[in-house]
Amino acid sequence: MLTFSNKVIRDVVGNAPCDAVILIANTKRYGGGGIFNLYSAGCSNNEFDAYVFTHEFGHSFAGLGDEYYSSQVAYNDLYPKGMEPWEPNITALLDTAKVKWGDLILEGTPVPTPDDSAHGVVVGAFEGAGYSAKGLYRPCRDCIMFSKKVGPFCPVCRRAIERMIDYYTK
Ligand SMILES: [Zn+2]
Repeated sequence: MLTFSNKVIRDVVGNAPCDAVILIANTKRYGGGGIFNLYSAGCSNNEFDAYVFTHEFGHSFAGLGDEYYSSQVAYNDLYPKGMEPWEPNITALLDTAKVKWGDLILEGTPVPTPDDSAHGVVVGAFEGAGYSAKGLYRPCRDCIMFSKKVGPFCPVCRRAIERMIDYYTK
């Protein structure tokens, strides 16, 4: 859920200083969207509204990518094969020895990381991310950028958010 009325939004937003633009649609219908450094959007009265707000804010504020890959909303070929995604929480794992969040992977954790209960809460590189079941990897089995439920950000997403907060405040 996004808008084509960018000029109207900018005219309205220009009336008050702000750091972030968040659009909340007065609807029960599920939907949301977030674009890095532009705005995030969500619904006001849906069972998933709290999740949508937080998830989309992750996109717009910290540039986080979608970690899910099984949604009906899919963007085929959004991530060209053989290129590393720019988002801090998705990797094409072109070099297993240099994962972009490798400093958060504990020694002994296999990379790629098996998607099983033995690796339920560790940081690794789990296949399936960025709308693709193959060839893209996410940091943890679960994260609010992965599951449609209110839950924590994984440590990699959390760090990306903290880095953005530091960027704006230090
Ligand atoms: Zn995450």
